Amino acid sequence: MHEFSIATGIVDVVREEATDHGADRVESITVAVGEASHVNPEQLETCLTVATEDTIAADATLDIETVEPYGSCSCGWAGRPETSDRALAYAPDLRCPECEARIDLEEGDGCRVMELAVPSEDADETETTP
Ligand SMILES: [Zn+2]
Repeated sequence: MHEFSIATGIVDVVREEATDHGADRVESITVAVGEASHVNPEQLETCLTVATEDTIAADATLDIETVEPYGSCSCGWAGRPETSDRALAYAPDLRCPECEARIDLEEGDGCRVMELAVPSEDADETETTP
C-alpha cells in the first residue's frame, strides 16, 4: 500500500527529529500532502495511526493538510496547474497553458512533515520526500 510506505517514512523522520531534540514523546504531527502526490489523505491518516503505534508518536495528534500543486515551465510561466478532472483522483493537468510543454511541479507532488510538536521544544520543521 502506497500510503503505508509513506506513513512509515514519516514516522522515521518524526523519530529522528524527536531524538535530535531529546524528546521522549511527540505531541502532534502536521503533514502536508500534495494533491498531485496521488496520496489519499484519509488513507494516510489511517496508516499513520497504525505506523505510530508503539512509537514515541503513539499519542500524537495527527494533522493532515492538503497542498495545491504549483508548478513552473521553462517558458517562464508559473502557477497552479489546471485540474482537468478532479473526480478522477487528484489529476492536475501538467501541461503549460502557455506553450503546452510539460511543467515541473514545485509543490504539491509529495508528502512532507511540516511541523512536529514535542513537549520540550517549540514546533520544528523538517522535510521528507517519499
Ligand atoms: Zn510553457
